[in-house]
Amino acid sequence: MSDRPDESDGDDRRFETRAIHAGQEPDPETGALMTPIHANSTYEQDAPGDHRGYEYSRTGNPTRTDLEANLASLEAGSHARCFSSGMGAINTVLNLLSAGDHVVAGDDVYGGTHRILTQVYDEYDIDTTFVDTTDHDAVRAAMRDETELVWVETPTNPLMNVNDIGALADIAHEGDALCAVDNTFATPYLQRPLEHGADIVSQSLTKYLGGHSDTIGGALIVDDEELDERLGFYQNSVGATPGPFDAFLVLRGTKTLPVRMDRHCENAMALAEWLEGHDAVDRVYYPGLESHPDHELAAEQMDDFGGMLSFELDGTLEEASTVVSETEVFTLAESLGGVESLIEQPAAMTHAAIPREERLAAGLTDGLIRVSVGIEHVDDMKADLQAAFDAALS
Ligand SMILES: *Cc1c(COP(=O)(O)O)cnc(C)c1O
Repeated sequence: MSDRPDESDGDDRRFETRAIHAGQEPDPETGALMTPIHANSTYEQDAPGDHRGYEYSRTGNPTRTDLEANLASLEAGSHARCFSSGMGAINTVLNLLSAGDHVVAGDDVYGGTHRILTQVYDEYDIDTTFVDTTDHDAVRAAMRDETELVWVETPTNPLMNVNDIGALADIAHEGDALCAVDNTFATPYLQRPLEHGADIVSQSLTKYLGGHSDTIGGALIVDDEELDERLGFYQNSVGATPGPFDAFLVLRGTKTLPVRMDRHCENAMALAEWLEGHDAVDRVYYPGLESHPDHELAAEQMDDFGGMLSFELDGTLEEASTVVSETEVFTLAESLGGVESLIEQPAAMTHAAIPREERLAAGLTDGLIRVSVGIEHVDDMKADLQAAFDAALS
């Protein structure tokens, strides 16, 4: 249970209550509790332009509207826009830019974010400087007159670096740039970037908000009507909008976000402590551990430390590959944030495209293993990892 201050757009109910109710009213016609899946493309007009709020489902769909209202409330914003993927959401932020503009982004942002900046927008003459966003002097030095956007992720993947949202938003604003925060790892239950001064929050709904590894989605949340209208123009013009069934699945997911996150956090903390004391493990990266370099900042900025952690196996690339292949409670897969535990090896999977020297310099060692800690029983997770260590290191 949290005691978050939790007032959003005039709704002063607590987070757990808004997770279930914000944006949703029983259907006025039938009394149905759950938002219906409005599988529908177009809407009747009484006279040209005289409609009941909806014209065409790319522009707006009632199931999506309820999800957007729910997410705006949870992220402590005034408006939200949903997309067919997290990348669809990120692309829409970049749609705000013009040729000649410049972006400052963290050097350990999500791989898809790195790719769209360097391989799509770079072609449109939008240049990005990647910096260590925990080094504020480096961020300031990277700012140019043309900088229009500072892109921040926290905690980051896979080393769980924690970035100071308030300080980075200040640097962005000093340079008249927007500050966007990818809040996918923390979720609004643990961290609300708009409260720290960020202008835009980006979410991959695919992860914790959906929470069940059964849909792909994205969202942007803001606390500014004009900015929302600009994003809405691109949402409708580009058209990467979710279908009503996907919106329904995420709406179903957000209802249990608080209880799921509590268990994710509890299990991750217990597993991190167990791994930290284990002979087969050299190092654990989890912001909840006092040994984590950003522990104090995480404790201030976040309400808890999340369900993602990484650790360095005291072993080779091959031995780490054996560990991730042998586990059974932990499924070998990319992605994160579902109820089931996942395991992956960055050096061989998500970060394999980075040349080895560069990878090692960034701290991504051969033995590094990342886990998305699910909500199964933590003792089964420990036993599963122990069996995999025994198989790999014997
Ligand atoms: C998964 C992810 C994305 C992209 O979201 P998709 O829904 O896969 O398009 C963006 N940022 C982070 C941090 C992610 O984990």
